[in-house]
Amino acid sequence: MEIERFGRVRAVFFDLDDTLCGYWDAAKTGLRRTFEAMPLPGLGTEQALLEWAAAFREFCPTIKRSDWYALYLEKGRTTRAELMRRTLLRVGLDDPARAEELADRYGAERRAALALFPGTLDVLREVGARHPMGLITNGPADVQREEIRDLGLEPLFQWILIEGELGYGKPDPRVFRLAERLSGCAPEEILFVGNSYRHDVRPAQAAGWRTVWVRRPSDVPPSADPSAKPEGKPEGAPDADAEIGDLRELLTLLA
Ligand SMILES: [Mg+2]
Repeated sequence: MEIERFGRVRAVFFDLDDTLCGYWDAAKTGLRRTFEAMPLPGLGTEQALLEWAAAFREFCPTIKRSDWYALYLEKGRTTRAELMRRTLLRVGLDDPARAEELADRYGAERRAALALFPGTLDVLREVGARHPMGLITNGPADVQREEIRDLGLEPLFQWILIEGELGYGKPDPRVFRLAERLSGCAPEEILFVGNSYRHDVRPAQAAGWRTVWVRRPSDVPPSADPSAKPEGKPEGAPDADAEIGDLRELLTLLA
């Protein structure tokens, strides 16, 4: 069964955040440590986190449709500070300087908390011994480069495609076409491994690639409603070629 599905795979591309490393976990830890160290006036940590999440849900959907997108692509700090500014405004504080301090603290705390999921390096080394590998990751150029360096991933990948450097990201079909050109592989010879149905699995399927969907119970962003569940598959949408709960299962699929 697996041989039929993955037997023709030559190159393997991975998503980064919450596929190889726990970005949401790091963001949650970073935010909590930030608001514990620098409390918002009159607000406990839990309340501060809820205000930040509400500001995020309001601000984030507008970024791609506004002048913020160009700034966001280049550097994480500008939008991070704007989000803190809006969080402070929600609690009646108009204080851009404090917003920048909070944003810097959060950036540093998140960076310190970011880690690969257990077994990730072993899996990448083993897959990499048999297949050329690439990364396709969304996010600001500086933040993504820093993550990749901090996690020691740079030498493992032949191709590293970052939204912030390209000016477009998943689910834009251009990034999948670029990966095909760079790897010299036909669509059906490429496997994409990612945690998001909407940003990873669906656009890779649409490009004609094989797909593995990594689904973990912890995959809920800090901006989500406290009762939110991990991203599901829209009704009637096609299944990924395989679903796994741990990256190590990939070795069995590709064996
Ligand atoms: Mg991801």
